[in-house]
Amino acid sequence: MIYSEFLKEANLIDGAWVSSDDGGQIDVTDPASGTVIGHVPNSGAAETARAIAAAERAFPAYSAMSVTERSNLLRNLHKQIVDNVDALAALLTAEQGKPLAEARGEVMSSAAYVLWFAEEARRAGGEVIPSPWPNRKLLTTRHPIGVVAAITPWNFPSSMLARKLGPALAAGCTAVVKPATATPYSGLVWGLLAERAGFPPGVVNIVTGSAREIGNEILKNPAVRKLTFTGSTEIGKQLIKGSADTVKKVSMELGGNAPFIVFDDADLDRAVDGAMIAKFRNAGQTCICSNRVFVQAGIYDDFVERLSKRAAALKVAPGSDDGAEQGPMIDMTAIEKTEELIADAVANGGIVRTGGNRHARGGLFFEPTVIADANASMRVTREEIFGPVAPVYRFESEADAIRMANDTEYGLAAYAYTRDLGRAFRLQDRLEYGLIGINEVLIVTPEVPFGGLKESGLGKEGSWQGLDDYLETKYTCIGGL
Ligand code: NAP
Repeated sequence: MIYSEFLKEANLIDGAWVSSDDGGQIDVTDPASGTVIGHVPNSGAAETARAIAAAERAFPAYSAMSVTERSNLLRNLHKQIVDNVDALAALLTAEQGKPLAEARGEVMSSAAYVLWFAEEARRAGGEVIPSPWPNRKLLTTRHPIGVVAAITPWNFPSSMLARKLGPALAAGCTAVVKPATATPYSGLVWGLLAERAGFPPGVVNIVTGSAREIGNEILKNPAVRKLTFTGSTEIGKQLIKGSADTVKKVSMELGGNAPFIVFDDADLDRAVDGAMIAKFRNAGQTCICSNRVFVQAGIYDDFVERLSKRAAALKVAPGSDDGAEQGPMIDMTAIEKTEELIADAVANGGIVRTGGNRHARGGLFFEPTVIADANASMRVTREEIFGPVAPVYRFESEADAIRMANDTEYGLAAYAYTRDLGRAFRLQDRLEYGLIGINEVLIVTPEVPFGGLKESGLGKEGSWQGLDDYLETKYTCIGGL
């Protein structure tokens, strides 16, 4: 296998690759074939406590390094990722299922975040504040927050960690990482890459195993000063509550229910292209993928027709196949939930225009699905679908579209297609979302702040704000000058 060298099957604690205390292991399977790729440690609280202690010991020396040294380590890490992109992408596809081209894009995005934060580290300055008192100087300085715990999901197992490790390491923090159990290898490999880049032992620690046990140790351990989480809103809420006892700083990248709005005046070809990417990328298992497609009445039938044709033509195949456009879903629970949501939509008046079933390939493959006549009574209106299903709603006016789009507790991403500049700015003002794409769907890059409003999260990843989340500000007053 091209990725054999990168398949790490142990925890990384204090610079040593170690098994779980009781030798317990978890199988990792390839969702495209169902075959077992390998095993990772089934660890719990004790291993996590040791990883946190290692990170705590490593913190004083690491945070005291010059910013140039830290920035150079991150540059080395960036080079490690870029030099090994093909193997890292193959590893990601093997455990997660997404088409190789998407996996490659994800790994390159990880590299881009690391490089961005290597550069941002050098700009994390403070300020001198004009003093209202004579003979005093007022200064602010910014300092790494301390030990950071990072918990990541299975849908973007490489890049979600890049957005956490990149700024944490740039700021001078040390880290304990818990990757998702379905896709641990793309998390564990960061340990190998960090070692090769020259990060000292204990700066990056990675533990796989029981989410509850690892999570509880992270929550109760006072040495962890920040918890950064990407995953579901349900677990995020539990982690926010659990962080209260030790008053940890939290960053939460949670679920979404993105509206994709197409107005009568849109460039229809462009809108259909955008809808295909925003809906079917990663088999619809993306936090920012469109969950609800709203189309204005004048173009509704035409749009549904075009979207259905394009969806039906997608090449559904194992991610490693040439030209694969949609890989398998992550597990059988995801397939069953998708089926339930489709059945509910049909029971509530939806019309399946294409797809609707498990794919003839069997296993975890599902047909790209378009449902017309979607309405507010359907579960897909309120719940994150996380599958390749596009419910299409009809609307009459701009005000209706905005009201329907905002009618959710989520607020991560929203997309709209229109040629009316005034409307574009009205949408920017009125859509209650942290990320807004007007006539564009591929809008994420390290230069911009990524983060949700409402129940989609707290904090930002990327931009200068992404580094700020790992720093604390101290104010110092020097008197008697
Ligand atoms: P999840 O079930 O919330 O799991 C996310 C991570 O949390 C996994 O590592 C999981 O471990 C861990 N976890 C589960 N229960 C835990 C507990 N009690 N304590 C500590 N950790 C716990 O989410 P998922 O199904 O992996 O990912 C899909 C969700 O992530 C969707 O809602 C999606 O929208 C969201 N997401 C958001 C963003 C964003 O940037 N806003 C990006 C990507 C995904 P196990 O794997 O061991 O269960």
